[in-house]
Amino acid sequence: MASLGIPQNTIEILQKYHFNFQKKFGQNFLIDTSVLDRIIAAAEITKDDCVLEIGPGIGTMTQYLAESAGEVVAVEIDKNLIPILEDTLSAYDNVTVINDDILKVDVNKIVEEKNGGRPVKVVANLPYYITTPIIMGLFENHVPLKSITIMVQKEVADRMQVGPGTKDYGALSLAVQYYAKPEIVANVPPNCFIPRPNVGSAVIRLTRYEKPPVQVDDEKKMFSLIRASFNQRRKTLVNGLGNAQELGVSKECVAAVLEEMQLSPTVRGEALTLEQFARLSNLL
Ligand code: SAM
Repeated sequence: MASLGIPQNTIEILQKYHFNFQKKFGQNFLIDTSVLDRIIAAAEITKDDCVLEIGPGIGTMTQYLAESAGEVVAVEIDKNLIPILEDTLSAYDNVTVINDDILKVDVNKIVEEKNGGRPVKVVANLPYYITTPIIMGLFENHVPLKSITIMVQKEVADRMQVGPGTKDYGALSLAVQYYAKPEIVANVPPNCFIPRPNVGSAVIRLTRYEKPPVQVDDEKKMFSLIRASFNQRRKTLVNGLGNAQELGVSKECVAAVLEEMQLSPTVRGEALTLEQFARLSNLL
């Protein structure tokens, strides 16, 4: 099978199967071999790796992964793509395609079955409408991971990487940076896809920490605090957290902890580092 990264080959396959793009599934297929090469290089795939691909589409990146990895498992929601994948991946005996919703399958079970529970690498050109739940699902369910190398909307890649004091900083930045080291590896313009998305894209690599960079007594509590802080971004922490019923802390208590941390009583969540959120959570 000729490389689908070459636009003409992708167009031929789409025509052969009379494929109709489904907007609701965020279908924008890659048609640029140099971008595909960069993704594979950034993910540092070797024959020792088992790779989980989310949303293989017609199998463009899957072909590259199958060439470089020991084993590839690809989860695709659109049943119309399954016969196409059987065709485009017929040359490879190290690929398993699962027709399911990545947000519903038990990823830990897949990793157990396919890689004996050892850490896998996730590589994907993600459907942009569910980028955050996919990433958070992988981290929060403690899927054994070495790294996640993904194409996402440029703005979302920026959000994952930034620190306090910028408008993009928020709950996603803190969650990603608690679990992994983020690194943008490429910016990708709309003309590298068919159909073209309305937004710019970027490839970001998240390298999973073996141990989180901060010490937290109760992870769940810290993330509830973070969510509450950014839900009401413009409010001070005293008001935002004191008003969040689910946390069960009083304004006085928040004020006392901020004082102990030598922070201003009018400080907002957007000014706190991950380390400060961890300390706040431990003290509260
Ligand atoms: N990997 C292909 C490529 O690079 O050309 C396709 C990428 S396209 C941006 C996203 C893919 O994810 C589509 O094939 C889409 O059908 C699939 N998808 C969308 N939602 C999904 C879900 N919940 N679970 C699994 N796959 C999904």
